[in-house]
Parts: sequence; C-alpha cells; structure tokens
Amino acid sequence: MMLKKAISWLNVCANSGCRAKPVRTRLLCSGAYIGNDRYCSPDCLHTGLAEHFGELLQKPKAVQSKRRHRIPLGLELVSRGYIDGPALQAALQRQKQQPESRLGQILMSMGAVSEDQITTAVAAQWSVPVLRPDPCHVPEATQLIPFALMERYKMLPVHFNKQQNRLHMAFAQAVDYSVLYSIEQMLGVKTEACMADESVLVNLIGLTSNQDRPAEYVLNNISARELVSMIAGYALRLRTERINASSCHGQIWVRATTKASVATHFMFNSLSQREAMPEASQY
Ligand SMILES: [Zn+2]
Repeated sequence: MMLKKAISWLNVCANSGCRAKPVRTRLLCSGAYIGNDRYCSPDCLHTGLAEHFGELLQKPKAVQSKRRHRIPLGLELVSRGYIDGPALQAALQRQKQQPESRLGQILMSMGAVSEDQITTAVAAQWSVPVLRPDPCHVPEATQLIPFALMERYKMLPVHFNKQQNRLHMAFAQAVDYSVLYSIEQMLGVKTEACMADESVLVNLIGLTSNQDRPAEYVLNNISARELVSMIAGYALRLRTERINASSCHGQIWVRATTKASVATHFMFNSLSQREAMPEASQY
C-alpha cells in the first residue's frame, strides 16, 4: 500500500486541471513528459503543450549577445598584418556599394586575404579557438542537432565529449549564444564554441543531409494552436515518452523522443512573434 502511494505521488499529473482519478493516473502507462513534468493522458498532454509553447512564445530573449567588446574585423585584420590600411579602405568603399556583402567576403574576392585568415580573425573577435575540421568527414555529433538549425546558424556540432558532457559547436561567421543556450536546455549538455572556415562548414552541413538522420519537420505558416494539436497527435501515435521544447530567435524547436530513444525534431517559426535574426553583416 505504501509503495502504491509512493508511485502515485511520483507519477502525479502536471496538469493542474487534470480530472483523471488517481488510480488512472497511477496505472496508465501512456503518460508522457514535457521536460520533467509528467502528463497522464493525451488530453493532459495537450493542455501541457499549450502552456509550454505559450510560455516559449512570450519569453524574451534568454541570452544577451556578447558582441559589445568585439573589435571590428577590418581592424583585427590590419592589426594582424593580414591587410594594410589602403586595402581596408578599398574594401569598406566596396561594401558601401554592396551593403549585403560582408567585409570578409569582399576582402576575399579582392584577393586581399585568405579564408584561413578571415577565420582566424573572426575567432579572435569572438575569443574562441579555431578548428580545422576534416572537410570530408561528417562528425557523429551532427545527429544531435536538426539540420534546419545547423543551416540557419551556419554551425556544426563537431564533437561531443561524453565525459565532460560537453558539445563543441563550430560556427562560420558569428557565435550565436542564444542558440547555444537553447541547445544546452534541449540536450542537457554544456556547449563550447569554436570557429571554422565557412566553406568547410557549409560543405559539411550539406553532407549531413545525405546521411541517415533523425526525422525532422519544419513547420511554417501554421498557428501555435495547430502546432500543439500536431505534436500532441504525433506523440500519441508514436508513443512518445518525452517532449522537450526550447525557443531561439522566434523559432521553437521541439524534440519528441520515444522509449527506444528515437528522436524526431520539429522546427516551428512563429508568425506573430518572429524576432529578427542577429546580423552578421557588420564584419
Ligand atoms: Zn492528467
């Protein structure tokens, strides 16, 4: 009797309006978790999802950009002796005519710097190390992150250190601390940023799409209400055990995991709450 009580207490439903009888809550095995909260039935899960997603959509940006103290890329390149003053002036002049181009791109197209030098300078700007990934080998850690996120932020999980529970993330243009925070929340890991050549990263991200990967759905142009119904229905059909969700720059990332640890990712772009992406164009 004591044991049964303990189980029912442990398995209590997180839906405050739950109408299930305690015995049902206790015995029903089809419950699912959202984060650490357990919901006893499909109805309760539906309510829980609506609450969680509602919070995510209203949440202000979780992490401040650490961009304040960065030295402009042009100065960084000059101080390293990669380019001289006139080359920088010429590049800045060109950038005025093509404001959508980044300074680094322009300098490379002028033949003034190599990609290697740009990567080194950008890494110094962000105070992160440079990584030289094998351009032909897709790291195993890419399985952890949805393709849509890697593509959007031009980043690649390069290594997962199991002992330290640390995921090393390579960026190409700018370190996005908000997405790192989001990854930490979703996967329960620590992250470490580094910088890699953009051409190598873009190529590797492209290669991941040819691999066997967890299923992934990008959901645009649906309402938050439709999202809740979709995920709830999906969780029921696929016997999802756990749902994790996190938001970053107006995008909600949902991961549904079955008992057998099979993960499915959903990327949802909120129409009304869309937040501007950070601009990487100033370097
Ligand atoms: Zn319930």
